[in-house]
Amino acid sequence: MTHYPLPKLGLCEPCGQEIRLRKTGALYAHGCAGDGEAPYTVLAPTFARWLHSHAARRDDRTNRITNLAQMEFRGCTRSPHRTPADVAWKTAEELHARLHQVQLQRTGSEIRQPYDGQRCDRRCRDVERASAVYAELVATTRPSPPWNCAHCKRTITGTGHTWFGPIPGPGQDWGGGAKYHLSRAYPDCRRAGGQPS
Ligand SMILES: [Zn+2]
Ligand SMILES: [Zn+2]
Ligand SMILES: [Zn+2]
Repeated sequence: MTHYPLPKLGLCEPCGQEIRLRKTGALYAHGCAGDGEAPYTVLAPTFARWLHSHAARRDDRTNRITNLAQMEFRGCTRSPHRTPADVAWKTAEELHARLHQVQLQRTGSEIRQPYDGQRCDRRCRDVERASAVYAELVATTRPSPPWNCAHCKRTITGTGHTWFGPIPGPGQDWGGGAKYHLSRAYPDCRRAGGQPS
């Protein structure tokens, strides 16, 4: 099954949307004052965000990950598209539990294949398969080590995403390119990295 790598997403401050990041670490253009800016924060590539990145693919007939993503985030063609911020689950386990909750609400039973009494159906198995692919990506994607800020030279610490600067492409070294403090508590560092404030 073809699938995407873990998504690099940032929260855009002006619009509050989750937007893909350029290799420079800036937000991709999406028709907003935040276009090309550093994100307010970089978002962890949760299972929900990774799965959602497949929702716009056109191979839903042959790719079970795409199919699952469209079922969860697009639903029927007339319903508005959902985003990871709109769904009540983040992990594959939560999504699986949700499938059975929905079944319980609809039919009074968690069993998704009532004709043969099987608790799980094809959709459950798609979640499990996608979950295995995601787990493999998490295991093989190198996390970023702590950096020193290219402006103040201090180690960039804190929880969540704390730096901005070039994001390496697949197979490229995370060490390349200057990183700067992202927090607004470091206005000089942000300015030195090219941020407007
Ligand atoms: Zn925006
Ligand atoms: Zn199930
Ligand atoms: Zn700094």
